[in-house]
Amino acid sequence: MQIHVSCSLRVRASLLLPGLPFVLFCILFISRLAAQPASTAHITGFTPSHAADEWKFEAKFKASISADQIRDYHRYFTSTPHPAGTKNDYDVAQYIADEWKKQGLEDVVIRQYDVLGTRPVSTSLDMIAPKRYTAVLREQPYDVDPDTKNPEVSSAWIGFSTSGDITAPVVYAHSGNPEDYEVLRQHGIDVKGKIVIVRYSNPYSYRGFKALTAQRMGAAALLIYSDPAEDGYKRGKVFPDGPWGPESHIQRGAITYDFMVPGDPLTPGWASVPGAKRIPESEAVSLPHIVALPLSWRDAQPLLANMDGPVAPKDWQGGLPITYRLNGAVVAHLKVEMDNSTQPYYVVEARIKGSEFPDEWVLLGNHHDAWVFGGVDPSSGTASMMEMTRAFGTMLKQGVRPRRTLIFCSWDGEEVGLTGSTEWGEQFANELRTKLVAYLNVDSSASGPNFEGGASGSLAPMLVETTRSIQDPNGGTLHNAWLKSTAVERKEAHDKQPVNDANVVDTRIGSGSDHTVFLNFLGRPVITLEFDGPYGVYHSVYDDYFWMNHFGDPGYKYHATMSQLWGVTALRLAQADVLPIDFEFYGITINQFLTELEKNRQFDSAKLSLVSAHKAAQGLTAAAAQTASLLNPAVASGKLTPTQLAAINSLLMKGEATFILPGGIPGRPWFKHILYSARYTYAHLELPAVTEAVESGNWAEAQHQTEVLVNALAGETALMKQISDVLQSK
Ligand SMILES: [Zn+2]
Repeated sequence: MQIHVSCSLRVRASLLLPGLPFVLFCILFISRLAAQPASTAHITGFTPSHAADEWKFEAKFKASISADQIRDYHRYFTSTPHPAGTKNDYDVAQYIADEWKKQGLEDVVIRQYDVLGTRPVSTSLDMIAPKRYTAVLREQPYDVDPDTKNPEVSSAWIGFSTSGDITAPVVYAHSGNPEDYEVLRQHGIDVKGKIVIVRYSNPYSYRGFKALTAQRMGAAALLIYSDPAEDGYKRGKVFPDGPWGPESHIQRGAITYDFMVPGDPLTPGWASVPGAKRIPESEAVSLPHIVALPLSWRDAQPLLANMDGPVAPKDWQGGLPITYRLNGAVVAHLKVEMDNSTQPYYVVEARIKGSEFPDEWVLLGNHHDAWVFGGVDPSSGTASMMEMTRAFGTMLKQGVRPRRTLIFCSWDGEEVGLTGSTEWGEQFANELRTKLVAYLNVDSSASGPNFEGGASGSLAPMLVETTRSIQDPNGGTLHNAWLKSTAVERKEAHDKQPVNDANVVDTRIGSGSDHTVFLNFLGRPVITLEFDGPYGVYHSVYDDYFWMNHFGDPGYKYHATMSQLWGVTALRLAQADVLPIDFEFYGITINQFLTELEKNRQFDSAKLSLVSAHKAAQGLTAAAAQTASLLNPAVASGKLTPTQLAAINSLLMKGEATFILPGGIPGRPWFKHILYSARYTYAHLELPAVTEAVESGNWAEAQHQTEVLVNALAGETALMKQISDVLQSK
């Protein structure tokens, strides 16, 4: 899975007017990071002598990354369809384990989780009135791309659809969101017992949300199709002549309600290791109860074109050369048979033990399961990862070992419900809560040249700093290219906010990939990295090697840049004298989240005041700035004792956990972070407990959750003071 919501995230972020303290901060921030000659330049958290070593280390690491080698890895990973739970997927896991051993990584192990899986037995769809049409449910093969003829390619199916045999009238419900059903209701159309057809939306809205909504409305089944307005010919040239989806492309995917609780639906909150306790399926909140099937627009058009009911609203009209209507005349017979039984998923794990702090971990992960070949999602990321680990292995063979431990994980079943990472995170929860410095996720690494970097607030500044020392394939630094491409994006979105270091990182982290368990369940800081471009073949057979070599990243240069960036970011966290976790920036970010909440349409200042929360966030910013004013010169002096450094790092590592509520946010106990969660659409949701209380008009709860937040911010501020105390101790 890979969410493409970054454009909309940026638009929303930019609608805020920065306050004066924020502007002052930006000036300070930019001056702090002013360019210096690379080899002697300052690196946040490093003593000057360690920074000098680090530049040499990084230069060697970056030089050993080969784009050609990445292409070879990518050819391997895209050679077979390998959805989670299949023999091919297991073979991929085994290959990764074997390669990691050859590369010299340590403690290579494959961990098996027996989870409730999902796979299709058979699917069919026939229109039986007003005329007959049998849906093809398969993608057109092309001679120029022999992979599209692979006999193992599946037909159309949706993970965790239920089995069913339904004959019913068909209703068009636009994107399948609650407001769309309201429009239908106003037209006197009830979807109870009907087959609802909806389109994938752009920007992305998780298909599981469409399924839950259809289920709540009483629909008998859900068809989700790709409209050419969203990812097809209305956007540009289609495959095999261009990067957009052709008429028969099918977006497969799962509809698991993992916005309630991700991972194995039968082990919510604990790991699916052998012998684990399992809840009955009837109690599993993340299991859908609706029949679902994805369609190409080739198969959707006959259903839509033969309706004779009311014309659909203007903004419901899509890219097909027809008049879109709400219902009428069309009856279909849908038959789906699924095997939703227990299957083994395989997470591959390896590490490089730290030379000085083996119990402080930097974790890097990507998933290996793919709906079909996974050219972009996830094989681009997997190929970048394998080349990065090869470079680390080479350095290890030369006796160069990072100070903290690097752990590499290749997840399984991400596409099904973030399953492998969730089970692994739950299995090692206790250790991860105290040892994990940060998690760095790369799902898709490259579908084009535009860099998108996301980070929980405390890691945003170090990510910006790191991009300054990575070269962009198009010339100049990645930092520069990132500012430029973001400026173009904002201009296209009519967003006038200028791009700068303080706002280029996406600090609004939703769900939809493997970072979720680490941020939302364990309370560890995360970074997510990706290069984006025009991409209309997501989760279809055409997301393959041919696509990548003709459209996405023909020279594998962005893949190589990702290997460098991902590795160097991890190295900075693994090598720093003082961890580059920035609570001054976090305080500013949280203050912004509060300002955004006040602009929420449902916010009522007569009912709730966020003044105390603003004060607490500003208090954190001020305390962290005060601490930084002592800490930065102390690090630069190189005179902090090992005892002081250990105490400071231990306090910094506790910071994120201060924002964790052991009982979770109301209604979703698995999601424990009070700053970050995801909406059911997967879209980012900041300050989830307060926001959801505001949006449901529960002002007493909103008040209570605001107090919880104020307390957490006070706890964080106290940590900053403790760091200052350590600095002043002898
Ligand atoms: Zn993915």
